[in-house]
Amino acid sequence: MADRPPALHDHDSAEGLMPVDDARAKVLDAIQPLAPLQLPLTEVHGCVSAEDVVATHSLPAFASSAMDGFAVRASDVADATPSRPSELKIVGRAMIGHRPEMVVGGGEAVAIATGAPVPAGADAVVPIENAQVVGEVVRLAEAAPSGRHVRPVGEDVAEGTVLVQRGKRLGAPELGLLANAGFPTPLVHPRPRVVVLSTGDELVVPTETPQFGQVRDANAYTIFGALREAGAMPVLAGIVRDDADSLKQTVLDYLIQADAFISSGGVSVGERDVVKAAFFRRGDIDFYKVAMQPGMPQGFGQIEGKPYFGLPGNPVSVFVSFELFVRPAIQKMLGRTELERPQVTARLADDVSGPEGKMQYARVVVERDGQGWVATPTGARGSNLISTVSRANGLAMIPPGTATARAGSQVRVMVFRTGVD
Ligand code: AMP
Ligand code: MG
Repeated sequence: MADRPPALHDHDSAEGLMPVDDARAKVLDAIQPLAPLQLPLTEVHGCVSAEDVVATHSLPAFASSAMDGFAVRASDVADATPSRPSELKIVGRAMIGHRPEMVVGGGEAVAIATGAPVPAGADAVVPIENAQVVGEVVRLAEAAPSGRHVRPVGEDVAEGTVLVQRGKRLGAPELGLLANAGFPTPLVHPRPRVVVLSTGDELVVPTETPQFGQVRDANAYTIFGALREAGAMPVLAGIVRDDADSLKQTVLDYLIQADAFISSGGVSVGERDVVKAAFFRRGDIDFYKVAMQPGMPQGFGQIEGKPYFGLPGNPVSVFVSFELFVRPAIQKMLGRTELERPQVTARLADDVSGPEGKMQYARVVVERDGQGWVATPTGARGSNLISTVSRANGLAMIPPGTATARAGSQVRVMVFRTGVD
C-alpha cells in the first residue's frame, strides 16, 4: 500500500476498500458535460440540446389546402347542395410549391392541389368529389364553412414558442421538427470521443491465432460496443504492451482526439502493473480498491484534463466497471440528466454467493413471470467468464453484508438490455 495516494485514505473503509457509491461519486464529480457545438442534423441523433430552440416563424408558414379541390369564398357556397349547386367561375389553378398569383373574388373559384397555398380571397376548399367542371365553370354541390379543408398558418407551431427544450434528447421526431423549422445545425453537447486501449503482453488482435498463453483482446470490443450503446464515439487505439513508456506515449499521441480514455488491465497488483507505472508517479490518476466483485481494482483521474478510466483486465470486471463508472460518466458528458440504468426488484431463482464485504454484481437473466420479475444467474461468478455476461440482461446487486443471497429472496437488478435474444 506504499504507493497509495494519501488523499484516498479518507475514502477508505475499515478494510481499505472504497464503497461503490463513493467511487462513483468520485468519478462523476470530476465529469462535466462537453462544451456545446453546432452539428449537422445527421450527427445529433441521441445528443442533448444545449439550448431552448425557439421557433423563428410559424409552422406551417402559409395556409394550404388539405384536399384536392377548389378554393372558394365560403360565403359563395353557403347554400350549395347537390340539387342546388353553386356555380363559380374558375379563374386559375393554385400549384403546389408556388405563390398563387390570382385573388379569388366573389363568384370565383381556383383549382387547388393538396398542399398548395390557398390564394388570397379564398377561405375554404370544396373537395374535387363535390365538384363538376363544365368548361370555365365549376358546380360545387357542398357548402363549406370558412376554414374548411384549409391548414391554417401556425396550426402546428406558433412563432416564438419553444420547439425543443434545453436538456431534451434529440430523437427521430426532433430531427424532423428541427429540419422543418429551419435549424439544420442545432447546438448540442457532442458525443464524447473515447480512446480505448488494451494493456497486456499476452494480448493479440482477434484476427490473429493466439500462441500458447496468448489471449485475444476481448475488452477493446466490449468497451467499443458499450461506448456505442452509451452514445459515445469509440476510437480503438489497439493493444499496448506492459511497458509504461509505450502506454504514456500512446496516450499522449491520442490526446488531441480524445475527450476521455479507457484502458483495461494493468491496475491491480503493484508497480509492475503498467497503468500504475505509467501514470501513478505523475499523480494524475488515483488507484484504489472498490468494495465490489467483480471489478475491485480501479484507476481514475485526468490526463491533461481528459478523464482517464483505468479499468481492471478481466473481461467481466471490464463490463461491470463500465456499467458502474464509465457509462454514467458518458451520460453526464452528453449532457443527460438521467445517468442510471433502469432497475427492477426481482426474485432470485438460485442462491448467489460471494465475498461478504463487497457489493456483488451477479450476471442474471431478468424476466417476468406470473408473480413479477425473476432473476436467474447465468453462471459462476469468476470475473474471467465472459460468456456469463453474454447470456445476461441484468446485474443483480447483492449488498455488502450478505455472503449468500438465497433463492427466493428479493434483489435489486440493474437492467442493461431488454432481452437477450
Ligand atoms: P490484468 O489486470 O492486466 O492483470 O489482467 C487480468 C486478467 O485479464 C488477465 O488474465 C488478463 O490476461 C486478462 N485480460 C486483460 N486484458 C484483457 C483483454 N483486453 N482481453 C481479454 N482478457 C484480458
Ligand atoms: Mg495485464
